[in-house]
Amino acid sequence: MGISEMSESGLRKPPLSAKVILNQRYGGNACYRIEEVPETVEDDCPGLVILNQKRARVLYRCHLQLPEFSLVSENFAKKKDAEQSVAQMALDKLGIKPDSKDHTAEEAYDELVTRISYLFSEKFCLSGHPIVNHIQAAIRREGDNHGMIPVSVVATLDTKIANLSKLLNPKTESDPILVMSLVLAAARSVDSICISSSGLWMGKKGSYSPEVLQSLALDSSNGEDKFVRALFVPASTEMPVETITLELRHGRCYLIEVSRKLSVKDSSYVLFSRPVGRASSERRFYFSSQKCRLLCNSNSLETTFNEGEAVNTRASCFSGQNITGNAILATIGYQWKSMKLIHEDVTLSTYYRMLLGMTPEGCYKLSRGAMLIAKLPSAFTSKSNWRGHFPRELLSMFCRNHRLMEPLFLIKEIPLKDSHQTEEKISEGSTIFVCKVQVLSKRQELLLEFIGKSCKKQVDAVQKAALSTLSWLNAWFEHNQGNSITDSTSLKCPDAERFISEFSSYSAVHARLQDGNIRTDKDEESNLISLQIKGPETVMPPLTLGSLVLISYFVHLVDYEGDDCERHTLESKEKFEFELGVGAVIDHIEYCVSQMCVGQTAQFITSHLPRRELVLAASGQSAELLSSLDLRKYSLQYSLKLHQVSEPNEDRMEGALFSPSLSRQRVDFALDLVNAARAISLVDFGCGSGNLLDALLVSQTTLKRITGVDISLRGLYRAAKLLHTKLSSKEAVTAGNCIRSAALYCGSITDYDSRLHGFDVATCLEVIEHMEEEEAIEFGHVALGQFSPGLLIVSTPNYEYNPLLQGELTGGEGLGEKQMAGPCRFRNHDHKFEWTRAQFRRWAVDLAVKYGYHVDFGGVGGSGDTEPGFASQVAIFRRQSPCLALSLVGVDTDVMPYEVVWKWP
Ligand code: SAH
Ligand code: MG
Repeated sequence: MGISEMSESGLRKPPLSAKVILNQRYGGNACYRIEEVPETVEDDCPGLVILNQKRARVLYRCHLQLPEFSLVSENFAKKKDAEQSVAQMALDKLGIKPDSKDHTAEEAYDELVTRISYLFSEKFCLSGHPIVNHIQAAIRREGDNHGMIPVSVVATLDTKIANLSKLLNPKTESDPILVMSLVLAAARSVDSICISSSGLWMGKKGSYSPEVLQSLALDSSNGEDKFVRALFVPASTEMPVETITLELRHGRCYLIEVSRKLSVKDSSYVLFSRPVGRASSERRFYFSSQKCRLLCNSNSLETTFNEGEAVNTRASCFSGQNITGNAILATIGYQWKSMKLIHEDVTLSTYYRMLLGMTPEGCYKLSRGAMLIAKLPSAFTSKSNWRGHFPRELLSMFCRNHRLMEPLFLIKEIPLKDSHQTEEKISEGSTIFVCKVQVLSKRQELLLEFIGKSCKKQVDAVQKAALSTLSWLNAWFEHNQGNSITDSTSLKCPDAERFISEFSSYSAVHARLQDGNIRTDKDEESNLISLQIKGPETVMPPLTLGSLVLISYFVHLVDYEGDDCERHTLESKEKFEFELGVGAVIDHIEYCVSQMCVGQTAQFITSHLPRRELVLAASGQSAELLSSLDLRKYSLQYSLKLHQVSEPNEDRMEGALFSPSLSRQRVDFALDLVNAARAISLVDFGCGSGNLLDALLVSQTTLKRITGVDISLRGLYRAAKLLHTKLSSKEAVTAGNCIRSAALYCGSITDYDSRLHGFDVATCLEVIEHMEEEEAIEFGHVALGQFSPGLLIVSTPNYEYNPLLQGELTGGEGLGEKQMAGPCRFRNHDHKFEWTRAQFRRWAVDLAVKYGYHVDFGGVGGSGDTEPGFASQVAIFRRQSPCLALSLVGVDTDVMPYEVVWKWP
């Protein structure tokens, strides 16, 4: 980057919002009032009361009253937007352009001088500003520099000074000592201020008036010595971070103790970083710099290169500032208006949590308070299923921790045309949303641009795009920050070098950590030892994608090799809810839970520990103890209990209307057809966790051979366990069925596998809508053209029935109205489409004609004779001609893409 370019973009200030600009001018004289406006719904379908109710929502418009005039905004979905909009209208009217520089360098310098002289005025001493506490301590202190305070205090603890310095020289943001030199330069022009010969102390010339002295003498501290834990962060990354105790003596400035711990001459040599962590917190790095000595002749500071002065990589990484030498991380300071010293322990665990906050996954773990079991989910299914901070917030958090700009979310609304549904007049007028995410450096340079997938709902588009961005960033961090960043259609990184350099200080800290890491094993199952599930075997809940699972858990660090079986609790939670199937927890837990029944407990051990930083971040108070152990000989023991499983939305909706449940009705529907056909063999395409196959085992049927295929291993594992248990028990025998063999395969049903050719019956219940439409069409061809079963039963939701289902869900109180707001949605977030009766019929008839089948239509839930038809529509295909031997049809006999997951006997 050229120097001219840098200073140019460096001077640009972050854009202020219209409201902020207006506030700077009018302060309390700008009055905003929000008014609620019910949205007017276009009555496109007068009959459908339910639909219209759902669509009606409240909008907001904002009235702004200024001394000169008043304005009203248009209507907005969010109050915030209405306010900003009206503020912008006001700015337009007043002719104020937000980016016109309101500060020339000269003005800023003058303001700096004014501010500094104010800090040493009598009036300031009554203001309650945190710096007043330092003045108070200075007045109490006798001897050298009596009444003077360190320049670093003035340079760091006043936001106004920090902001003005930033305007004068953008580099001050990353270099606290540059602020000090600016402050000193400005202070030299103020007559009432004196500066020590070292250039590190400053104070008011002459003494304060008796009234002020009296108020400063008020001692409001509670007169005790305090012991605060802090961290010593050595300059060399070779040396470990260690806990120290600061002994804060009553009546003495805390900087004295800090200077002692840093082994510098006095508190004026102590420099401060900006707050790290929450902006309002007083958690800062304290350090020193050899440049302090040069402060008296401040001109040369910026160009002075300090040989031999080591950069403190860790501290620099967290603060985003140039921190040199050893540093202390402590939370101490004064708050506004409170004369009390506030302080908080900073432990090793705090440090490791800060480190976690530097990666997207870490941000998620922190937001869930579960370092050892939570993982950044791979999918955003719905707002109601997401737990922890939302992706958008996580991305902001991540950017804040890396000192980047707030990420930008740009939304584009695209009218839906040419969709298969338009001609059915169902999604008429509906639109889709595409969200573009931009990650920008502090200087507003574009680092990364991600274009999300299109979504029906605006909020989802934003969250999904944010999550994709997070996942990409996370992978980049995981894979050692590789420097090959290839653009794709959805991802653009205009300047890879800039991108990498933006994260370079973190990379340096992280690389060190990885060296010291305990081996991590990606092959999760191999390192899972002795999984034990105990407790009553009840009916297995339908654990499908979208189920919410509630568990409680403990994670212990155990030493099995030692004699005394040492055990430390690392993490525990009484209630932890997560969505199944999206990778919201580590694979071990997901694998374990998918085999459990409600009420059961489970325990397992992993022999390879996760990263050391995770263990220490989780360990809280015991981090200090644990950091001294050789963690390699320990294992992690997980204990958990499954408390509750809530069904996905679809099942909840259906369950609210039908008894027996729709899924039971589908099974019965299929059973009748199977028996009527005297079928011997059956294959269930998309068997999921074995709902249908399980029912076949306990019913009277003619079947001897049953098979299931699914693309999801998770479902198949569950099905395997279910079937295995049933077949091994007497239950199946007494049911009077004659099933001899059973098998489960993993594969996509759009692929043909010759082992499943020519079965008597094939079922495919509520599966096609989970595939893309083209795949569903492909499946039709493969099923009838290649698998060629005698009978094929396909069921799928009837889109036209949705208003009834959703009305049921929203009609009752409680269940989120928000969830269902907007035009008629699909029943399940995983549905890629839902067909009307006409669409389904067309698909089925075309296929039947092409492959010599006869097709009938039926359904379950509701009735076929009244509008809007069955809740779940079913097509029954019957082969018209006998099934030819494979070789005759010209189909390959040894195409076997499916993988056998389980087999009986
Ligand atoms: N038939 C089951 C499950 C329905 S849920 C029941 O009625 O309960 C839909 C199932 O289709 C899921 O288990 C999903 O994994 C599966 N599926 C989706 N696409 C698939 C594909 N291309 N091949 C095989 N299975 C698929
Ligand atoms: Mg479904």
